[in-house]
Amino acid sequence: MIRNITFVGATHGNEQSGIQLVKNWQRFGLPAGYSKLNIDCYLANKAAMKANVRFVEEDLNRQFTPALLSKTPESLEAQLAHTLNQQWGPKGASNIDLLIDIHNTTSAMGATLIILETDEFHTQLARYVKQQMPTANILVEDEKPAAEHGYLCTLGKRGIMIEVGAQPQGLLRADTYALTAQMALTVLDFVGLYNQQNVPGLPACEVFRFGENIIYPLDGDSERLAMIHPALQDKDFQPLNHGDPVFQLFNSDEQTWEGDTIYPHFINEAAYHKLHVAFATAVKATL
Ligand SMILES: [Zn+2]
Repeated sequence: MIRNITFVGATHGNEQSGIQLVKNWQRFGLPAGYSKLNIDCYLANKAAMKANVRFVEEDLNRQFTPALLSKTPESLEAQLAHTLNQQWGPKGASNIDLLIDIHNTTSAMGATLIILETDEFHTQLARYVKQQMPTANILVEDEKPAAEHGYLCTLGKRGIMIEVGAQPQGLLRADTYALTAQMALTVLDFVGLYNQQNVPGLPACEVFRFGENIIYPLDGDSERLAMIHPALQDKDFQPLNHGDPVFQLFNSDEQTWEGDTIYPHFINEAAYHKLHVAFATAVKATL
């Protein structure tokens, strides 16, 4: 039974679609038909939101590992993580049954549902979302136990992320907003069916399972030697095959993909610029 649901925006303070959706639901309430569910809407990092930046000192969405939560917090975001852990947790013992954290990305990932585990609830949820929104992507990040992730959504008993793009940082696009709202309400529709034990038989669905982050080619001083190849730009969740171009080097060479077929995503994500992450890999699977 999913009793308590919390929607969070502003985990990243410049991701305007989730921020605006949460603000609108706080001001106007949720659409009619969802009144039976106990839903809370929350803006996580208000200081970052006011400044229209991802974070003030550190990425809030990496602060929720068991190790960091047991350490004395120093940065503003680490302190906020500890406060939220007290308020909603402690992690592992929360009374939030489902925490839905809303993000957007500068990558062309469309509407993506990120799940961290593939138990019956999350499998059925993924299949339902894919059935209701056939163009949506399901990204599975189960490379480690869900609780070991540093994501804010892991404070809930169950935690998922909605990730929609492409939307530049710091501004709101109506198409991104619409997809975000649609996916959020689709998740609530599923919860309603799940609570009534009325989930229909759902066909297995295609998912993308996270592999690893790929770093830009760098020189010895960590200076970039390349940019994303134009043939790869905006091709999130499309197959990248052996021999396909990946990087356009500034010396006019190009670098190709030498491995087996993968499905890149978070391609050229602005927030990963400092980390030199060019994209993440995934393999296609059935759930
Ligand atoms: Zn984000």
